[in-house]
Formats: sequence, structure tokens, C-alpha cells
Amino acid sequence: MKPRSVEILGVRVDDVTYREACDIAEALIRRGGAHQFATVNPEFIMAARDDDEFRQVLASTALNVPDGAGVVWAAGRRGVKLRERVAGVDLMLKLCALAARHRWRVFFLGAQPGVAERAAAALVLAHPGLMVAGAYAGSPRREEEMAIVARVRAAQPQLLFVAYGAPAQDKWLARNLPLLATVAGDDAGGGIVGMGVGGAFDFIAGVQKRAPDWVQRANLEWLYRLVRQPWRWRRQTALIRFAVAAMLESR
Ligand code: UDP
Repeated sequence: MKPRSVEILGVRVDDVTYREACDIAEALIRRGGAHQFATVNPEFIMAARDDDEFRQVLASTALNVPDGAGVVWAAGRRGVKLRERVAGVDLMLKLCALAARHRWRVFFLGAQPGVAERAAAALVLAHPGLMVAGAYAGSPRREEEMAIVARVRAAQPQLLFVAYGAPAQDKWLARNLPLLATVAGDDAGGGIVGMGVGGAFDFIAGVQKRAPDWVQRANLEWLYRLVRQPWRWRRQTALIRFAVAAMLESR
């Protein structure tokens, strides 16, 4: 079941399509245990270079999907043609469609208060039958962790989406998913898949507008976000540093 993968600046990226990522999630949920997915983009890779904990988290995930045109480009320079860009928010939508079909329970954790609930409601409209196990903002602060874990455990989800931005969401999952596995395994007859989804709840709830399709197809989503949220420019310099580092790596 292990997909082909490529290392980009020390981070593993798996060559999967949306379809395959959904199939893997389904197989893992059937198998039992706790499994983490990450949506690797250039910002993740640059952050992981200076952050041992984040690097280790990304090394131990079940699946790292190629989120972002930059990752697909860098893999190509290393001689690996990734078949599809798998954007986190779109994978989340597809996993929710699958969850509705299989009657999996889904928990939405993160974003500003009220946003997770609105995202969940929008998804129930789109996928009647979707079982919302819970929707809660919480916070990635350590002081709240125990209480949030207790809340999620009680809800026994098979899918857990965490929207605290990277790397906080991915570290949160690495620390806490194992604590959520036993309950899901005992009672719900299956495993749990957790995935950090960044700003996905904001897009789904309509709090943030996503780039139009043509902008996404032209691989200019980063430019669209920069224009709409100019305060992100400092984060986006990671894109330039990434391009330079990836070119040096593949020389
Ligand atoms: N967020 C949060 N708590 C925090 C920091 C961030 O709930 O302490 C949420 C924020 O509301 C947003 C998401 O995390 O919904 C991160 O969005 P961003 O666009 O920064 O994520 P990216 O997709 O760039 O990783």
C-alpha cells in the first residue's frame, strides 16, 4: 500500500492522486489505529528545515500529499513526475464525501470560534448523511490540550480535521492522535485518520474566499493569497527560498 515517494529538501512527499489518498484513508480506518496525513507545501518544507520536531512529525506521518505547485515542480527537478497536486482543502472535501457514504464520524477542530461549526454545516448540506461528531475551535495551546483530547475522544471520530495552521496543527496531531486511537478502535470498529488542514475551514465556511479556478489552474494561488492577505508576505518569502534551495538540491 506504500505509494512511491520523493524526498524534497529532506521531507518525504508521496506520489498519490486524490483517489488514492481517499483509498488509503479508507484502508487505514478499516485496519484500526491512528494515522496522520499532512499536506506538504513549500512553506512546510522550509519550516521543517529549521524545526526538528516538525521534521520528525513529517517523517512519521502515514501520508504526505503534494499540496502546492512548488512541490510538484521541485519533485520534477529531482526526476519524479508527481501525477497530481493534492490540495488539502480539496482532499478534505473528498474525504467528507467518502465519510458520508461510509457513515464515518467526522470531527472539525480549529479556526476562529464558530467557523468549524459553519464549515461542518456547509458540508452536511453538500453531503446529506455526513455524521458530524463535533465542531470546536479550541486552541493549539498546551494548557487546553487535555480538555480538547477528552472532547474528541468522547466523540469517537474516524476522521479528524485540525485547522490551527502549520506546524502547530501537525504537531498537535502527532502528540494527540495516538491518544485517540484506542477509543476509536474499541467502539467505532475502526481507526482514525487525522489531517492538518490550515485555512480550509475558513474557505468552506466562506470566511475566506478561495482563488478562482483559473487562478488555481495557472498555479497562481500563492499570488492571489498575497494580494488578498498582504501581511503574509513574510511567510511567502519562504516560496523564494524554497525555489532557490530546490534548484541547488537538484543541480
Ligand atoms: N488558527 C487557530 N488558532 C491559532 C492559529 C490559527 O484556530 O492559534 C486557525 C486560523 O483561524 C485559520 C487556520 O488556523 O483558520 C490557519 O490558517 P492559515 O491560512 O494561516 O493556514 P495555512 O493554510 O496557511 O497553513
